[in-house]
Amino acid sequence: MQQETLFGHPKGLFVLFFTELWERFSFYGMRAILVLYLTALTTADNPGLGWTSKEALALYGWYGMFVYFMGIFGGAIADKWLGQKKSVIVGGVFIILGQFALTVHNMAMFYTGLVLIVCGVGLLKPNISTMVGGLYPKGDGRRDAGFTLFYIGINIGALAAPLLVGYYGENVSWHLGFSLAGFGMIAGQIVFVFGGKYLKNVGNLLKHSETESHLASQPLTKIEKDRVVVLLLSFLIVIVFWAAYEQAGGLMNLYARDKVDRLVGGFEIPTSWFQSLHAFYVVLIGAPMAWLWLKWGNMGKESSAIFKMAVGMIIMSISFLALMGAVYDASVNMLGKAPIYWLLFSYLLHVVAELSISPVSLSFITKLAPAKYASLMMGSYFAIVGIGNKAAGMLGEAAQDAGEMYIFGVIAAACLIVGFLLFFLVKKLKALTHGAEEVTPEVVLAEQE
Ligand code: GLN
Repeated sequence: MQQETLFGHPKGLFVLFFTELWERFSFYGMRAILVLYLTALTTADNPGLGWTSKEALALYGWYGMFVYFMGIFGGAIADKWLGQKKSVIVGGVFIILGQFALTVHNMAMFYTGLVLIVCGVGLLKPNISTMVGGLYPKGDGRRDAGFTLFYIGINIGALAAPLLVGYYGENVSWHLGFSLAGFGMIAGQIVFVFGGKYLKNVGNLLKHSETESHLASQPLTKIEKDRVVVLLLSFLIVIVFWAAYEQAGGLMNLYARDKVDRLVGGFEIPTSWFQSLHAFYVVLIGAPMAWLWLKWGNMGKESSAIFKMAVGMIIMSISFLALMGAVYDASVNMLGKAPIYWLLFSYLLHVVAELSISPVSLSFITKLAPAKYASLMMGSYFAIVGIGNKAAGMLGEAAQDAGEMYIFGVIAAACLIVGFLLFFLVKKLKALTHGAEEVTPEVVLAEQE
């Protein structure tokens, strides 16, 4: 199949890029104001639900977990009944309904809205990611770069959302904020439906005949099983990574508010601005990072997904060492507050690590998963992300008693251990992928046997 291309990539990539950009705008916009809405007083000019911070954070934690965890069902539904493309459309409709349900000031509607969003994201997020992989034939070297581009789209949405939805939600009305998030998802649906002509060959439910040789009667082949094992192992790493990374919205957020000197040239940087830093850095260094990895690989150096994940985990560990530096600095200087550069540097390292792990994992899954379980494997990845989110919240809570130095230290150590373990296992795990990352005629032949 000959696909039309733009900037060297299938045009369908740009349809998925803009759809997901808007979906993430909707997702992060709503997330930016959720806790604020919950805790705003019922008697305020812009009335909220009057919850305590503790209650709000607890709901936020569960929401963060379920919204990703549902991906496992979204994936299974796509593999069995809908195919990825229809799942994305149904998911998008759920999200739109959910966002608009939140605009109604009523508890029943509030919970209905959350449930709809959780189901919608569960259907949309893993399946649109799998579709990106579907645009590239086996062994196509552009796949990783395609995922990085897609990832940049995600982060443009994530960067703009808190600014717009946050601003109008906080300053005008929460319900206007939720509506904007709803309109964002409508924009995403329009892009997806009108761009459908570039997605004819991806995301369709596999016909019975295409999977028949593998179905029920036929268990997975040895190669497929080995690849699933590698994927499941890599998922364990992913829990540690997201548990560390998601400190940003919780513990690091509070740390920035209370213990970092945010005064720069007489201007105090608002704490919430740090929440846009990740997305900002991804947009800034996403392309150069992808280029660097490509160059590195072209020089004949080790550049398998597992190797990149190992590097990412070690960089993540260094980012938490930097935060320990901040805590130490705060304890010895006169102000009792940490200089801001530690935090800026730590966030930058987070993103260098993220770009070595997150888009790489998405791409890796689409290379390794057996076709009939492609969406389920992607969904399981997001379920793991959900567990990582919950673990992040629990670590943040633990820091309230154990102190930041201790928790940052534990995270740094965990990332370092996982990183080194991966380094030692690169060769073994690569062997178990049976060449899925560098498809040659021999690999294709072995797969057919
Ligand atoms: N920030 C990325 C996104 O929203 C990664 C999310 C995740 O996998 N935890 O897609």
